[in-house]
Amino acid sequence: MIDCGADWLNAVNSVSPTAIVLTHAHGDHAYGLAKGVSCPVYATDETWSVISRFPIADRRSLTSYEPFVSGGVRFEAFPVDHSIRAPAVGYRVTADDTVFFYVPDVADIVHRREALGGIELDIGDGATITRSMIRRRDHMLIGHAPIATQLDWCEAEGVTRAIFTHCDSGIVKKNPRLIEACVKELGAEHNVDVGVAYDGLNLTLARPKRRD
Ligand SMILES: [Zn+2]
Ligand SMILES: [Zn+2]
Repeated sequence: MIDCGADWLNAVNSVSPTAIVLTHAHGDHAYGLAKGVSCPVYATDETWSVISRFPIADRRSLTSYEPFVSGGVRFEAFPVDHSIRAPAVGYRVTADDTVFFYVPDVADIVHRREALGGIELDIGDGATITRSMIRRRDHMLIGHAPIATQLDWCEAEGVTRAIFTHCDSGIVKKNPRLIEACVKELGAEHNVDVGVAYDGLNLTLARPKRRD
């Protein structure tokens, strides 16, 4: 399970995940762990320092760019610009031969090529479609890159499929068909097959079998 926001507070143990990996310590990503959880939790030291009071028994510290395997799935954390108080990462996730990148909150990816190169699917930040939600603080970008910008990244790195999740009210409150059409049109301009995520969405990722 990646992230565990506050709305999972009384539900996470019934999900009983093998492990939880956290992207950052904002409430909508980590506060579902405020009463603890009965599985290992992986996070960066920066994230652990923000949620140190949570009664989590099995804390695993991870380091960016150092892959680890949990439940047969390989995770590699990539630092992203998003927040100063809650430094964030995205995950390059590999299971069998399939690789995807998951980054629900992102203003910029520090090593974009290494993060996105060769992936089958990018699961990105659906906060805003085209309107910028980015501020510059010192040398860092704060906030959320629009979907249009993330599609620029996909196009530059040859990623042909993207799903946007964690959508803001500007998307959620509008007609889903109009939003889907708008996002698909943007995707077509970038040669990316794009969809908008929704609760309960299941995706099957499988590389086509090579024929000998
Ligand atoms: Zn955040
Ligand atoms: Zn968030």
